[in-house]
This record gives sequence, structure tokens and C-alpha cells, in this order.
Amino acid sequence: MVIPENVQAVLKALEAAGHEAWCVGGCVRDALLDGGRLPGRTPDDWDVTTSARPEETLAVFGPQARPTGLKHGTVTVKTPGGPVEITTYRLDGEYHDHRRPDAVAFTASLEEDLARRDFTVNAMALSLRGELRDPFGGREDLRRRLLRCVGDPDRRFQEDALRILRGLRFAAALELEIEEQTAAALRRNRALLQFIAAERIQTEFLKLLPGPGAAEVLRAYLEVFGVFWPELLPMAGFDQRNRHHCYDVWEHTLHALAAVPGDPVLRCAMLLHDVGKPACFTLDEKGVGHFYGHPAVSRELADRMLRRLKCAADFRETVVRLVEWHDRDIPRTDKSIRRALRILGEADLRRLILVKRGDNFGQAPEYWDRQKELDKAEAILNRLLAEDACFSLKQLAVNGRDLLALGLSGPAVGAALEDLLDKVTDGALPNERGALLGYLQSTRTADGKE
Ligand code: ATP
Ligand code: MG
Repeated sequence: MVIPENVQAVLKALEAAGHEAWCVGGCVRDALLDGGRLPGRTPDDWDVTTSARPEETLAVFGPQARPTGLKHGTVTVKTPGGPVEITTYRLDGEYHDHRRPDAVAFTASLEEDLARRDFTVNAMALSLRGELRDPFGGREDLRRRLLRCVGDPDRRFQEDALRILRGLRFAAALELEIEEQTAAALRRNRALLQFIAAERIQTEFLKLLPGPGAAEVLRAYLEVFGVFWPELLPMAGFDQRNRHHCYDVWEHTLHALAAVPGDPVLRCAMLLHDVGKPACFTLDEKGVGHFYGHPAVSRELADRMLRRLKCAADFRETVVRLVEWHDRDIPRTDKSIRRALRILGEADLRRLILVKRGDNFGQAPEYWDRQKELDKAEAILNRLLAEDACFSLKQLAVNGRDLLALGLSGPAVGAALEDLLDKVTDGALPNERGALLGYLQSTRTADGKE
């Protein structure tokens, strides 16, 4: 297991000044996953824990160090390989609000610091010399791919209810099974999530969604997610009564979610694309189920749900747009793809194709040949982009200045540009300056404006 050089230098500097220093938490866990050749990930940030008090750490690193969370004993040191967070061995005091300890106290004991951490796999420390401190059996749990609380799980979830969602996040991201007692306590205490700030829930939830185990965790712990997103609950077991579907709405959703790449936007769009279905259900005289208008209802619900979690505006807007569009046909013609490009832009049109693929893979396998239609749409899209097709105002061969020179002014300029782009997108005019200006002149003459 290799500690990066810049982190080694930090550990050495602290030790040289007579302090203990260890890598700790997520980086040790992830490095062990890799080192043990279990499918893992390379740690991106290496956190350091030390016996040095914050002011001592500041003294060791001088101007390279900044106090970034002195109340919690955290100092950040600038290194050539990026910032490294150094936190003093710490004990958490009493918890009264299911969120944060009333106070924290420094300690001289690494073991005490490890004991305050949430899960055994997150409560290991690694020294410069490769010594592993693992008082709670995290390494063995990792080998067995088990997620287990440090100490009594009920108490740990009651102290800080965010750990409930962190547990589900680690299970999804690292494909760990949640140990029985921990799982039972997690379910039992789920209502405490109501005390946690929306932003903190959002952070963990958006790290959970891309995980390879996200669908299984959502399936197994739906009632926990229902605490902050009760809108998900009616999907479970909702029979679609339609031959296109071999699953109920929730199972369809989970299959679709697992079939899109592990990206938070795509996974979130998949999770919410049919959330409006239960409210739209009708049964026709033949006993077949329909969900007329469900994309618009799903869009409204999704918007409300994402606002509740205080998701960033651009994230929310992209997700709700994909939800709104998920059921529209993308006809496989140059014209329709150019139109879709004009409205959605390349990135969102590519996402929409992936969403439609996921939605289709969540249907009965005999309908999977729809994928070929999506292949065709994608091929047209790639060709149009390679040909530098015009689908936005900035690609148009004329601009506002040209129109001002022709004597247009005010809102007429924008309207004329939009009109030109419509014509180019639809293939009625080539994207050539002369042709566009000629067309404009002819319409102005026809309107009697000259
Ligand atoms: P990631 O790979 O997402 O960074 P991580 O395990 O490093 O995962 P962080 O949120 O960065 O997660 O936290 C760093 C470490 O701090 C954790 O590994 C854990 O030991 C401890 N920790 C973080 N949050 C909590 C908490 N709410 N309760 C107890 N310990 C926590
Ligand atoms: Mg971390």
C-alpha cells in the first residue's frame, strides 16, 4: 500500500517534531481495497490524524498551513500534491440533537480517535512504516465486504443520524453488505434523518446514486429514502398492467437506473422519471393500464423533491428536463435530431439517449430492440456534429450586427435570428451568409418594410 509522497512528507515532518501521525479514514479503506485486489478505488484525498495540537501542527508547517476548522482541530497544509487535512486526535462529547456533538475534546490516544468514527472500515489508521491500527476489525470486515458500525449501532445512529445515509452510501459505492445489527438499527432509526440538514443529505445521496450497488441499496432500504422522499414509496409494488412491462413501477425504475452509467444526473433522472406514474394510472375497457401525462407529473414531483434537498439549480434543471423528455420519441431524421440539438444542446441530448436506453432496458426483454432505434439516432447525431451542423445562434452564419446593418432594431433582431435558425435547423435554408441575408431581405420586402 503506497502512501503518496506529499502525504509521506507531511507524516515525516510531524514525526520529526516529536508527534504521532497517521493516515486515517477513507484513504486507508480505499487503499486496502486496492491493495487487497478487491475491486476498489484509488483514494483521492488522504486525511492525516495526529497527536499534535492544532497550534503545534501550525508551528510545524509554518506559512504552508492554514487553520480550516480549528474548533474540530483541523489544519490544512499546502503540498505539491494538493492540500492535506490534518486533524488532532479527537473525542466527541455528548450528542443532543442527532446531528453533532455538543463539544469536541482533544485526546492523546489514537484508539479514542478511531472509536468516534462511524464504521469499522472507516476506523483504521496507517503509519509511514506501513503499520495498521485497526482496533475494530475493519480490515476483516472489508475482506468479507461488510459494513458495520463502530460500537452499538443504535447509539451511533442516534448520535448523528447522517450516519444512516452514510452507511447506505458506502454500501452502494463499495458494494458492501450491511451487517445484520447495523442494518436493523439503520432501519429502526430512520425517522431521525428528519433532523439532518437537507444539504448534508444531498451530499451523501448524490455520492450513493453513482455507486455500482445503488439499485440494490435503493431496493433493500426504500423506507429509509422515503423519510426525505416519500414520493418514492407509491412506486413499490405498483402493477403496470401493460404488456410492455414485466416489472412494477419501482422494479422497472431500479432496472432502468442500473442500466445507465454511474453519473449522478443520469441516475437521478432514472430514479425520478416515472415517479408520477402512480398518480396518472388509468385502466382502459380491455383492462390495460395507461399512464397518460406521467412525464409532466413526474417532472413536477422531481422538481419539488430536488428543491427539498437543496440541489444546485443546474443539476435540478438538467434532471427535470430529462424526466420531462424521457418518453418523447426521437424520430430518426436529420431534421428532428437538429431540432432536439437546438433545444437540448449536445450534452443533454446525449444524456437523453442514455436515459431512453435505460428506460428501455427496464422493460420486458422482447422490447429491447428499441435500442437499435436509439443507435440510429446516435449515429445521426454523431454525423451531424462531425459535419459541424448548425443548431445554435452562435453557429449561425450571420449575427446581430448583420441584422442591425440591414436596419432591424430592438426585439426584431432576436426574433429574426431565431427565425433564421429555425429555417437552418429544418433544412429550409443553408447556413451561408449570402443565403441568409438574401432571405431576410426578401421577407422584409414582402412585409412592405422597405
Ligand atoms: P470519501 O471517499 O467519500 O471521502 P470518507 O470515508 O473519507 O469517504 P469523509 O466524509 O471524507 O468520508 O470522512 C472522513 C472520515 O471521517 C471517515 O472515513 C470517518 O472515519 C470519519 N467520519 C466522517 N463523517 C463521520 C460521521 N458523521 N460520524 C463519524 N465519523 C465520521
Ligand atoms: Mg474523505
